[in-house]
Amino acid sequence: MNNPDILVIGGGIAGLSAAAALSKHARVAVLEAEDQVGYHSSGRSATMLHYALGDRLVRALTLASRPFFDNPPDGFTDVPIGRPMPVLIHTRDDEREALDRLEADLSAFAQLERLDAAGVHELCPLLKDDATHGIADRRGIRLDPHALLQGNLRQLRTHGGELHNGHRVAAIEYSTGTWTVTSDKGDRFSAPILVNAAGSWADEIAKLAGVQPLGLQPKRRTIITFDAPAGTDLEHLPFAKTVGDELYFAPESGRLFASPMDEVPSDPCDAQPDELEVALAAYRMEERTTVNVTRIHSRWAGLRTFTPDGHPAVDFAIDAPGFFWLAGQGGFGLQTSPAMTAIVESLIVGTDWPVADVLPQDLLADRFLA
Ligand SMILES: Cc1cc2nc3c(=O)[nH]c(=O)nc-3n(C[C@H](O)[C@H](O)[C@H](O)COP(=O)(O)OP(=O)(O)OC[C@H]3O[C@@H](n4cnc5c(N)ncnc54)[C@H](O)[C@@H]3O)c2cc1C
Repeated sequence: MNNPDILVIGGGIAGLSAAAALSKHARVAVLEAEDQVGYHSSGRSATMLHYALGDRLVRALTLASRPFFDNPPDGFTDVPIGRPMPVLIHTRDDEREALDRLEADLSAFAQLERLDAAGVHELCPLLKDDATHGIADRRGIRLDPHALLQGNLRQLRTHGGELHNGHRVAAIEYSTGTWTVTSDKGDRFSAPILVNAAGSWADEIAKLAGVQPLGLQPKRRTIITFDAPAGTDLEHLPFAKTVGDELYFAPESGRLFASPMDEVPSDPCDAQPDELEVALAAYRMEERTTVNVTRIHSRWAGLRTFTPDGHPAVDFAIDAPGFFWLAGQGGFGLQTSPAMTAIVESLIVGTDWPVADVLPQDLLADRFLA
């Protein structure tokens, strides 16, 4: 299908979930540069749904997405798209005020339990004795990005939509109501609506299209995996995070994973882990827990891409008819994808506005334009 009604650039969670929803109303094609979907940020995430990420708007989008994850719709039930995993935010004595503030901020979104030192160690026996306070959300969800991506892809295809892998968009032209996109293979695709869901590359796509970029900033984040101490009950370990952005860790495929929560500005690229952040992850793990990270089993890095105010941009560009921004999902693009998708559907095909606590003007792309 080279002349769909809607052409989506990007086969990550943003592009695929939007395409799947839009394909119920229109003929949709997705162009993805890589041979597989989710190769970049969507396949490199920590995959946790929790409310300690972002601010009120991000939490509202997350809360609005929960029903989808709690009761996945038809087409997403073959393989679990997530499994329950408690979330523990822990502190030492000197960080207690920050925990109080976070608890106040999160209490409108999650049912939190305040924990003393005994409660913290009961939930996460790996933490050192200086972890003396905590809040727990027993309803966290560890998401499965591959099940989510495949579920969306199935929906897209069921409704007649198409994915074109291995098609890197190389040129974009606009003429009399039609966007024409040429891929690096020389194939041409045209549509009146072009959805820019290119993740870290979304500003590059805008520049190709002659649209003013938003000032997106990709930031690299690193994850390592390593063995847990013998006898660790991995089944019941939580996703454990320091109250400040220093460290999180959780069980991962029979081992543990950890991130030093690095946010290193980067150009859009195939992000690779940096030795310094790998070492920092191991150091902070040993600083906060009783685990010795003697051997790192695997490591990876991915980009989290932010708009200048940290909120996503989901909107038609004011300077280019039919050019739709779906960008700036930062570190929350998986857990907010159902709500973001319903917002895209509302703005493009006119379904009801889905999230009462978030207004269309909160997501306007033109808020960044001079
Ligand atoms: C380490 C880490 C931890 C994270 N933890 C969480 C978490 O716990 N919870 C959560 O919800 N989120 C988390 N995130 C964030 C989440 O992964 C992202 O917000 C989300 O994946 C962004 O999705 P996307 O579709 O916008 O980007 P991507 O998945 O990067 O997709 C964009 C796609 O566009 C394609 N593309 C780019 N240029 C072109 C072109 N010219 N032509 C064709 N295709 C193109 C790319 O190949 C890419 O596949 C984390 C991210 C990282 C890196």
